[in-house]
Formats: sequence, structure tokens, C-alpha cells
Amino acid sequence: MRRFEGQTVLVTGGAKGIGAATAARLASEGAQVVVADFDEAAATETAERIGGRAVRCDVTSRADVEAAVAAAAESGRLDVLVTCAGIIRDNLIHKMTDDDWEAVIATHLRGTFLAAQAAQAVMTQQGSGSMVLVSSVSALGNRGQANYSAAKMGIQGFTRTLGIELGPFGVNANAIAPGFIATEMTDATARRLGMEPEEHRAKAAENIPLRRVAFPEDVASVVAFLASDAAGAVNGQSINVCGGTVMC
Ligand code: NAD
Repeated sequence: MRRFEGQTVLVTGGAKGIGAATAARLASEGAQVVVADFDEAAATETAERIGGRAVRCDVTSRADVEAAVAAAAESGRLDVLVTCAGIIRDNLIHKMTDDDWEAVIATHLRGTFLAAQAAQAVMTQQGSGSMVLVSSVSALGNRGQANYSAAKMGIQGFTRTLGIELGPFGVNANAIAPGFIATEMTDATARRLGMEPEEHRAKAAENIPLRRVAFPEDVASVVAFLASDAAGAVNGQSINVCGGTVMC
């Protein structure tokens, strides 16, 4: 499939994990991709591998985000924005510091707000565009992640509002909510818990109806669908990619 031929795409947090897999997927379908990440070396490596461009960008900085959007929209167009930049600072509520709270809220919520705000200026002008904003199933609540779940549920509400405000201009916005995805983020959690990543994944899989964790490519293919014309009538929604819901 070459669904993004001639289109320009910006992926924040595109250097590694889900963002890198998404950048690779969209590039493989014809997109010109700008990989924006504060890990400049990894962003450059990913951009070179997929034939895209790298931009150093801290998503909490308005100036960096506006420069990244301007770089992606150099041709005057920006067709797709995918926001993947993310961190975790897990702690139980009684131990959570101001810094744990603010770093996570700034990266996920402010970072998503800044990117969407800069992107919509280009997209509404051209009368088309798609945004896919990465949330998480942790939005529904997860022990040790009060900061992260607040930010990720915030992204879902933000996405619904973007859908309402930008839809009339031909721009759709959807959120994607991954479950356990095998990336550096979950590997770091494994190490913090004193486990090898493989052991951690196997344990997580026991509680997933499909009995497997997902990989960045599993998320990237759903992002590609949501960013494509095939999902042109989907707007303001949050789509889980988690192997099946376990209800409590
Ligand atoms: P990752 O750690 O592999 O990649 C995150 C990327 O974001 C890295 O390239 C990192 O350098 C970049 N980044 C972090 N802070 C940044 C900032 N301030 N500015 C610019 N770039 C920044 O993690 P991942 O698992 O690929 O996570 C990607 C997104 O998916 C995150 O939003 C994460 O919360 C979300 N998510 C991940 C999982 C999972 O299980 N891995 C599940 C649900 C949601």
C-alpha cells in the first residue's frame, strides 16, 4: 500500500519505539516523514534508516515544537501529525513528587497541546489533515501511574475536543490507546521491577486475552489506518490496541 504518497508527516517522539515504527510505516507507504525527538542522535539514525529528516525537538518547548512543524510543513503542507513523545515517572501517590507529576504532565499533555495547536494552523488552512495522538489504556487507571493516567485521559478528552473544533475544517483527530507494547519504556519498567524484559513480557501476556504483548509495529499499523483516507469518517475517537480488554 502507498496510502501516503506525496504527503508530509510529523512524528514527535519518532526516534524510538512506537514513534520510530510509525515513522517507518508511514515512510514505507510513501510519506515524507520528519522525525522530531529530543534524542537527536536516535532521531537522526531513525530518519536515515527510513529516508526521512530529523529535527531536534523537546515537545515541552513551544519554540521547538513550532520549529518542528515549520520544518515538516516546509512545502506548505502538513498532512499527518502523530504525537508519540512520552516518558513515565511511576510512583505511588503518597510518594509522587512535584517533579514526577510535572514532567509527565508537561511531556504528554503540554507536548500534545503544542504540537496539535501548531499543526492545526497549517491543516485548517489547507482544509485537510489527520492527527493521531498517543494515549494509553492506563488512562483508565493504573497503580503507580496517577500522573501518567491523568495525562493520558487528558489526551482523550483533548482529542474529542479537537474532533469537534477541527472537523468543520476537514481535519480529523483520533487517539490511540496502546496496552503493553514491548519498547524501551516497558523494558525500563522491567528492570526497575528486577526482571528481564522477556520475563516481564511473558508475565504481562498472561493477563492479556490474546496472550501476547504487542509490538511497536502493531500500533504503527493502526496509526497508519487512522491517518489514512480509510478512516476519513472517524473523528474524536480513542482506539485501544491492547490485545483485548479485561473488565473489572
Ligand atoms: P520509548 O521510550 O521507546 O519512546 C519515547 C520517545 O519519546 C523516545 O524517542 C524519547 O526520546 C521521546 N521523548 C521523550 N520525551 C520527549 C520530549 N520531551 N520531547 C521529545 N521527545 C521526547 O516509548 P514508547 O513505548 O515508544 O512510547 C511512545 C508513546 O506511547 C508514549 O507516549 C507512551 O506513553 C505511549 N505508550 C506506550 C506504551 C508501552 O507499553 N510502551 C503503552 C501505552 C502508551
